[in-house]
Amino acid sequence: MIVQIPTRQDHEGYPGYLGLFEIADNCPVCGGPRGKVYQTISYDGSRRLHCDGWDNPCGHIDRYSAVRDEGKRVPYPEHPDPPPYSDVYGDNPKNNI
Ligand SMILES: [Zn+2]
Repeated sequence: MIVQIPTRQDHEGYPGYLGLFEIADNCPVCGGPRGKVYQTISYDGSRRLHCDGWDNPCGHIDRYSAVRDEGKRVPYPEHPDPPPYSDVYGDNPKNNI
């Protein structure tokens, strides 16, 4: 799957620090399927940046730092914004750590 995430931890809310990464469709810990992508916000401690998030049904959390290590950065000119969380998972977002 292709996801749009910050390319660095201290992204300062700058969209230029967004990148597309191609990663496996499955959780690297247990091999279960990864969750569907939705719109979320990455907070670097001072600024917010809109990017992709997903909740794996198995409960394992993919940290962006690990996703950057796993994934291959890819050019992908059309990456439409994913739907909001509520459209993907219903109205009860769980709190990601
Ligand atoms: Zn898992």
